[in-house]
Amino acid sequence: MKALRSFAVRASLPESLSALEAIALNLRWTWIPEAIDLFRWVDPDAWERSEHDPVAMLGMVSPERFAELAEDGPFTSFLATLEEDLERYLREPRWWNNRSSESSVTYVAYFSPEFGVGEALPVYSGGLGVLAGDHLKAASDLGVPLVAVGLLYREGYFRQQLNTDGWQQERYPALDPHRMPLTLLSDGDGMPLKVEVDLAGARCVAQVWRANVGRIPLLLLDCDVEENDPSERSVTDRLYGGAGGSEHRLRQEIVLGIGGVRALEATGHGCNVYHSNEGHAGFLGLERIRGLVTRAGLSFAEALEAVRASTIFTTHTPVPAGIDVYTTDLMERYFSSFAKECEVSFDDLMALGQSTPSATEAPGYFSMALMGLRLAGRSNAVSKLHGDVSRAMFCELWPDVPSDEVPITSITNGVHTATWVGPEMVEVLDRHLAPGWAEGGSVQWRQLVDIPDAELWRARERARERFVYFVRERLLEQQLSRGISESEAAWTQEVFDPGILTIGFARRFAQYKRGTLMFHDPERLKQMMLSSDRPIQIVVAGKAHPLDDGGKQMIQQLVHFASDPELRGRFTFVEDYDMEVARVLVQGVDVWLNNPRRPLEACGTSGMKAALNGAINCSVLDGWWDECFDGRNGWAIGTRDLYDDPDYQDKVDASAIYNLLEREIAPRFYDRSEGPVPRRWVERMKASISGLGDFVTAKRMVGDYVERFYEPAASQGEARSADNWARAKEFAAWKSRITECWDDVSVLDVEGEVLAADVGEERSVGATVRLGRLGPEDVAVQLAHGRVGASGELIDPALVTMSVGDRTDGVCDYSGSFTARSAGLYGFSVRVLPSHEELISPMEMGLVASA
Ligand SMILES: *Cc1c(COP(=O)(O)O)cnc(C)c1O
Repeated sequence: MKALRSFAVRASLPESLSALEAIALNLRWTWIPEAIDLFRWVDPDAWERSEHDPVAMLGMVSPERFAELAEDGPFTSFLATLEEDLERYLREPRWWNNRSSESSVTYVAYFSPEFGVGEALPVYSGGLGVLAGDHLKAASDLGVPLVAVGLLYREGYFRQQLNTDGWQQERYPALDPHRMPLTLLSDGDGMPLKVEVDLAGARCVAQVWRANVGRIPLLLLDCDVEENDPSERSVTDRLYGGAGGSEHRLRQEIVLGIGGVRALEATGHGCNVYHSNEGHAGFLGLERIRGLVTRAGLSFAEALEAVRASTIFTTHTPVPAGIDVYTTDLMERYFSSFAKECEVSFDDLMALGQSTPSATEAPGYFSMALMGLRLAGRSNAVSKLHGDVSRAMFCELWPDVPSDEVPITSITNGVHTATWVGPEMVEVLDRHLAPGWAEGGSVQWRQLVDIPDAELWRARERARERFVYFVRERLLEQQLSRGISESEAAWTQEVFDPGILTIGFARRFAQYKRGTLMFHDPERLKQMMLSSDRPIQIVVAGKAHPLDDGGKQMIQQLVHFASDPELRGRFTFVEDYDMEVARVLVQGVDVWLNNPRRPLEACGTSGMKAALNGAINCSVLDGWWDECFDGRNGWAIGTRDLYDDPDYQDKVDASAIYNLLEREIAPRFYDRSEGPVPRRWVERMKASISGLGDFVTAKRMVGDYVERFYEPAASQGEARSADNWARAKEFAAWKSRITECWDDVSVLDVEGEVLAADVGEERSVGATVRLGRLGPEDVAVQLAHGRVGASGELIDPALVTMSVGDRTDGVCDYSGSFTARSAGLYGFSVRVLPSHEELISPMEMGLVASA
C-alpha cells in the first residue's frame, strides 16, 4: 500500500548526545577517522547495516542504547572532544583568512552534476564526482568561501553485482533523503524553499537540500515534490538521466544550471564567481545573462561580457564523443521563450553552442562544451597534456589562432589528502610532521625522505595486510550473495598473500582505459603470478557503463580468468567499485597500474591517491603522469610515441608492462639483500611520495583555482558591474566595433635584415599595417621571433610588442627589435591582434591578422 502522505522521522537523541547529530550532519566526518570510531562505538552492527551512513544509523539505534551511552563517561567525553574539534574547525581562521591580500571574492558558486563526498551520499558515478567532492573538502580546509550546487537523485548511482557468469548486473538503490546527512531548506515562513524552472512549457519545481562538507554548503536540487506532474517529478530520478536519453539529460541540466542559480539567489548566497565543473551546468551562464537583461536592462551582448568575466569552465573531456550535444529541435522546444526573455533571437542563442555561426543554418547540434567555453572568460583542462588535447580539440572556436595559443589553460587535478591517506600512513605522517597536516596545514612532503626506511616499509606492509583482509571479506560476501554456500566459498579466505608484490588496477571499464591489456599474454602473466621466488598478485575493480556491453565483456573476461582455480588466489575482481573500495585499494597495493590509450586520460586521479599512500605508479605517460613522471618516482609504460594501429599499440604497451614487471618491479621489490627491508623499493617509494606529495593534493589544486581564476574573475566581474555595468557595456560595444571592422586589418609589409647573425645580435624590424577604421589603441602589433622548424613554423616564438609610428589614411608604421636567442635557422614574423585592457586573453576574440 502506498502512503498517502509522508513525513520525516529523525532519531530522538537524549539531550546530552545531541552533538552526535551535529557531527553526523557534517560530512567532515568522512575524513576524520576519530568520528568514524565514534559512530562505530555507538553501535558497530548498525554502523555496518547502515552502510556507513551515520544519519541512517542513528535512526536504527534503540532508545535503550542511547540511554546507556549517555551514562558512559568515556563515550561522552570522546563525543565532547570531537564536538569541540568540529566547532574549532568551522570557526578558526584558515589559509584564506590568513592571506595578506584583500580579496574581492564574496562567494564562489561551484556547479557539478555529481559530487563524490562519501559513500553516504551516493550522488556520484566516478572520477568527475570524486574530484568535485575533493574540491569542496580542500576548499573547506583552506577556508575558501565556496558554495556548491548539484542535484539530488532519487536513486543513487548503480551498485554493481556480477552474476555467476561474470556479467554485470545493475541495482539502483533508492535514496531516502530523510535518512541521509541532508537538511531540507526552508523559506522565511518555515515552508520548504522552492525554485521553479520552465521545461518546454511545463512548470517544474525543485526543493533544495543542504549537505555540509566541513565549511562548505552543498545545495542539492530535488524535483521529487508533490506539486510536480509525474514527468517533472522524475527529472532528478537518476544521475545523467538513466536511460531517458538526451531530452532527459537536457531537462536535468536546465534544473542544475538555471534552477541552481535561482537556488543561490533564494538562499541569499551573494556569489561573484561561478565555476562550472564540466559542461553539464553550463546553462548557469544563460540564466545569469537572463537576469541581467530582465532586471538590469543590459543587452544580451553586454550581459554576456558581464557574465563572462566571472565565469569559469573546466573541461574534463578528451574526446568529442564525451560531450553533451542537443539537436536544434530539442533546444527550440526548451529555449525559444528563454531566448525571448534574453532579448536575443533563438538562432543567436543556438550559436553559442555551435562551432561557426553559419552552422545555425544547417540542422546543427548544440554543444554544451562550446557554450561553456563561450560563456566563460576563463577555461581550463585538467592536466598539462589534456590542455594540449583540449586546445587542439576546440581550436575550431578560434579558427585563426595557432592551436598552442587557444585560450584554454590547464590546472592539474589533485586529491584530498585526509580522505585518501590510509591510517598506517597517517600514523607515520603524524609522527614526522607538524600537527594539522591533514587539514591543510603545511606538509613538508620533502622531509619524508628522512623517515627511517623500516618505518615506512612497516606501514606499507600493514596497509597491504588490511587490504588482503578486506578483499577476502568482500569476496566471501560476493559468493554468498550469489547463493554459494559458506563451505564452497571457503577458498575466499585464502586468496592473496599479505607478503607479496601487489598490483592494483581500478577504474571505469571504458574501452580507452584498456582494462584487459595486462591479459594480452595470459600465459606470461600467469607465470609471473605463480613464480616461486617473485610472485605477484593483482586486484581489479571497476564498473562498466550500464549501456556499454563492450565494457561488460571486459569485466567478464577478467572474471573468467580469475575463476581459474590455479589463479584465484593471485587474481581477484572486487565488485562495486566506489569510494570505499577505492580507499582500501589505493592504500593497500604496492603498484598502481594505469594503461589508458594515450592521450585519452584527461588526468586520472586514482594514481595520485595511491602515490600519497606510498604505492608506486606504473603508468602510460598520459594525464597527470605525463607531467609528473621524472624517471625516479615510478615507472613509465612505453614512450610518448603513438602507433596508428591500435592493436599494435596494445601489443607494444602490454609487452612494456610485462618487461617492467619482470625486469624492474619484481626484482626491486624482492631484493632483500640488505635485510628484511627492500631498500631500493623504499628508495623509490620515498622519491614518489616526497616528490609528488605537494603537487598531487587538492589543496594545491584549489589554491591554483583561487589565485589564477577565482580572484581575477571576481575583481574583473566587480569592475565590469560598477557604475551600472559601464565597463561591460563599453567593452561589448568595443568588441562589436572590432568585429565589424576587422576585415580592414592586414599586415601590408614587413622589413628586416635576413643576413646571417650571431647569437645575441639585435635586429630591427619595421612593419606597415593597415588598420582601416580602427585606431592604434585598438590593436597590438606583435613581432614574433624564434627558431624555425622543419615546416617553416616558428618554434615557441618570443613576442615583442611593436611601437607605433607614422599614420596616414588608416595605414600605420610599426617598429620593433629582437635579439636572436639561439643558433641555427632563425626567423621572425609580424601579426596584429585586438587589444583592450578588458580582454582576458589576447586570443579571446579569435581575431589575428598575420603577415
Ligand atoms: C578516484 C576515483 C575515481 C577516478 O579515478 P581515475 O584515476 O580517474 O580512473 C573514480 N572512481 C572512484 C570511486 C574514485 O575514488
